[in-house]
Amino acid sequence: MRATVMYGAGDVRIENVPDARIIEPTDAVVTVTRACICGSDLWPYQKMEPTDTGRVMGHEAIGVVEAVGGEVRKIRRGDVVIMPFAFSDGTCVFCHDGLQTSCVHGGFFGTTEVAGAQAEAVRIPSQTERSSRCKSIKTTR
Ligand SMILES: [Zn+2]
Repeated sequence: MRATVMYGAGDVRIENVPDARIIEPTDAVVTVTRACICGSDLWPYQKMEPTDTGRVMGHEAIGVVEAVGGEVRKIRRGDVVIMPFAFSDGTCVFCHDGLQTSCVHGGFFGTTEVAGAQAEAVRIPSQTERSSRCKSIKTTR
C-alpha cells in the first residue's frame, strides 16, 4: 500500500509499505479515505533526526473499517469511523473516566511502534509496550 513516510526533518516520501493487517484479535484495519496533517506531524518535520527506516506519519483520519479481529465487539466491517491521534481499549479505568489518551493499553499513531494514518490503510492495534509499563497505574488508582 502507499503511505507517507518521514525519514528526517524535511524528508517526506510517498512509498510502498507493507499492507496494514490484523495482528492481534482486538485489532482493526481501517481503509483511510481522508487524513490530515496534525500539528504533531510538524514537530518532527522540523527536527527529526535522519533515519534509514523512516516512519509512516499521520494521526487523525476518517475511513471505513476493512477488517476486525475476532475479539472486536463494537465496530464491524463497513462502519465509517473517525479516528483521533490516539488509540485506546475503551475498557480501562482511564477510558471509563473519559481520559482515553491515558489508556493503559493505548498509544499514538505515527510513531516508530505504530504506523500513522497518512496511508491507504491503518492498523488499529490492541496495545503497545506502554500497556505493560502502565499496569501498576491501573491497580493503584
Ligand atoms: Zn483504556
